[in-house]
Amino acid sequence: MFSIDLAAHKDDKHVERKPEHRITEGQSPAPYIDEAALRAALDSILLDSLRPTIPVLIVLLIILAVGYLQAPYSIAVPTVIVTSLVTLVLCVSGVFLYRGKIALRHANAVGAVLAFLVIAQRLLFIALSEDPMPTANLILTLVGAGFLLLSTRWFLGVAAVTLAAWGLIAWRAPPSPAWGEYGFALVSATALSIIMHFTRLRSLRRQEGLRFQNESRHVELARRALQLETLIATGSNITAILDLNTLLAQVVDLVQARFGYYYVGIFLLDKTGEYLVSRAGTGEAGRRLSEKGFRFKIGDDSLIGWVGHHRELARVNDVSQDARYVGLDAVPDTRAELVLPLEVGDALLGALDMQSDQLAAFTDDDVRVFQSLADQVAIAVENAASYQEEHSRRLLTETLYEVSRALSQTLDLEEVLDLILEDLAQIIPFDRGSVMLKHDSFLEIVSAYGFPPESNPLQIHISIKEDDVFQQIYYSKQPLIVPEVLKRADWQQVEGLPQARSWLGVPLINAQDEVIGILSLTRESPTSFSEDEGRLAMAFAGQGAIALQNAQLYSELERAYGELERLDRTKSDFISVASHELRTPLTVMQGFSQMLLQDTGGTDDATRQEMVRGIYRGAIRLNEIINSMLDVAKIDTSALQLFVLPVSVLALLQELLRKFQGVLAERHLTASVSDWEVLPTVEADPEALKKVFRHLIVNAIKYTPDGGHITLSGRPIQAGTHDLPVDGVEIVVRDTGIGIDPRLLDLIFAKFYQTGELALHSSGTTSFKGGGPGLGLAIVKGIVEAHGGKVWAESPGHDEETCPGSSFHVVLPLRQKAV
Ligand code: ADP
Repeated sequence: MFSIDLAAHKDDKHVERKPEHRITEGQSPAPYIDEAALRAALDSILLDSLRPTIPVLIVLLIILAVGYLQAPYSIAVPTVIVTSLVTLVLCVSGVFLYRGKIALRHANAVGAVLAFLVIAQRLLFIALSEDPMPTANLILTLVGAGFLLLSTRWFLGVAAVTLAAWGLIAWRAPPSPAWGEYGFALVSATALSIIMHFTRLRSLRRQEGLRFQNESRHVELARRALQLETLIATGSNITAILDLNTLLAQVVDLVQARFGYYYVGIFLLDKTGEYLVSRAGTGEAGRRLSEKGFRFKIGDDSLIGWVGHHRELARVNDVSQDARYVGLDAVPDTRAELVLPLEVGDALLGALDMQSDQLAAFTDDDVRVFQSLADQVAIAVENAASYQEEHSRRLLTETLYEVSRALSQTLDLEEVLDLILEDLAQIIPFDRGSVMLKHDSFLEIVSAYGFPPESNPLQIHISIKEDDVFQQIYYSKQPLIVPEVLKRADWQQVEGLPQARSWLGVPLINAQDEVIGILSLTRESPTSFSEDEGRLAMAFAGQGAIALQNAQLYSELERAYGELERLDRTKSDFISVASHELRTPLTVMQGFSQMLLQDTGGTDDATRQEMVRGIYRGAIRLNEIINSMLDVAKIDTSALQLFVLPVSVLALLQELLRKFQGVLAERHLTASVSDWEVLPTVEADPEALKKVFRHLIVNAIKYTPDGGHITLSGRPIQAGTHDLPVDGVEIVVRDTGIGIDPRLLDLIFAKFYQTGELALHSSGTTSFKGGGPGLGLAIVKGIVEAHGGKVWAESPGHDEETCPGSSFHVVLPLRQKAV
């Protein structure tokens, strides 16, 4: 609707801008009288009066010609001929006049010539008759010419020639007192007709002047009507526009289209209240100034700044004469400028700036109109601004609500963090965003938005340095805006990412008021984040911190629950495992002994031997199991007693390996001691240590498929390594077996913990995945810890196909405290 409106008035603009109608100077516009126009008007009045005069003169001349016929022959012939010729000329002129063939500018000349011709035929008659009487007629004609002719030059010419000719005739004629009398009458009549001529001319001039004034008033009124129309159009259009940028653009375009000014711009007060910033302007210049964020400081240094400072309009008729004028490259031809403050109540919002390429282009009327326009624009600007504020507040509330709703619905940490960044992107424009969590000395990205796909943001770690941006946020617990990161020496640009230019970081603060990480937003353009945006991001970060904490609590709970569940299962499994473990050797023993009891001598010695060996192996296995149970019971009740001696771990291990030779060969496994550094002797209970490594080697054998390899390595370690307070040794039992799920690395040291299927458990202690009662590692841990040492397992994961292997680390101190 707006554009149609503009188009409809495009033509008006041209009419309005015609130079003859422009009112360029003066406080209240005086009527502007154009001499040429006045001349033309007078000429047309003369032509109008010639029209009825010519036929009257023709009739008069015909009557005169008839009168001349009474005269003597010598007088009558020439006068009648001349009178007829004059009559003919009058007739031809009349035709021309009626046909409109006589140009305005020749009106006076034509009038003068005709008057003179009529006078000339009279003079001829006077000269020939030598009679002064017809002078009366001459006088009448001269007075008529004075009235008719509107050019003083022409009239005086006619009068002068007439007087001169008459004088000459009177001088040559035989003397008579009548000449004197007629002479006096002729001179008086001439004087009278001159006065009449001037009086008429003056009144006509005034009359025409008034007519012109009237006309120019009309033009002025039309202009005023246009201004008011603009005002109304602007008012009704702009109050409906709620988008500030659209609003400003429409206002400047409308004013320019209606009034044809050289440049129209709007400047708005910035957040600091110190500058008026270009927000909209006409044409290419306006676009450039607004894009650059061109601004004037409030104060007396510039015209716009002055208006902002004094809250008064400034009208400059000639900018070259005003020190406040600051010339702009974008608008080089400005000659006059009008700047009005945009105010609502006492609050300054900005300034409306109009520049013209003509001197003194702004009249009082313009000022009045633009003052009302400025008021309307100010109100519309305020409306749009408060709408936008309201809109963004609503958006924020909605988004925050969304986030908290999502938060209460999902405990999936990743999902919530992604959601926070996604929603934040709707409100604050940024190129990359991430949520980073603090670990001792570095930040780890846990959620990322807008990163290039190949950059793998979740792998990015950023080290925290003294006094860097993170430290600053950590201590201030406030958002931090870095308008230009290139200016910060400590800025850490992550390799492979587009160069960051401006940055906003806000702390993630948990319920205990600790900074657990930051929310980081990056722009690749040097457009600084505003404080408002900082506050917004802070609100989101608050939600983020809650989400993080909730999700962490939840996953801890989940883990604890899972552990409880496993413990519960472990307990019931133990009953089955224990009964199974005990029953397997018992069943074998029972079977063999029954067979032996029933043997009536039919069995050969070798078979009988085999049966007895089976019973023996079963008894040994039972013994082992019961010993393990006893060991665990001792460990549990802290009743484990150590008999400490200096032990050479290498010798102990080599002795152990010798015992496993048969089993290893059976399973096609190799075991070796490698990477063995010279170890000092260790104070330890050798029997207990043997148990430790026996369990570890048995496990390595059990969980390594045939053809695998087991290596034992050892090295001395210094106090502080692996948190051991004193010097010690570290022994690693490494295998090429099925490996352990990293989640289970700690759990396998719990008693009764075993992962294999029950069906696989058997008394075969060293068969592949042979299983056991799940006590081995619990005993290992109990014994190692009783020595003041540590044991742990490492493995890339559990995979029976690829066999990633496991390693068990045992750290023992060199010395035991008082035993
Ligand atoms: P078990 O009697 O079941 O062997 P342990 O306490 O010795 O009991 O071991 C507990 C569990 O740890 C085992 O069931 C097994 O799943 C895992 N485990 C121990 N050692 C290894 C190893 N070297 N490789 C893979 N898994 C192992």
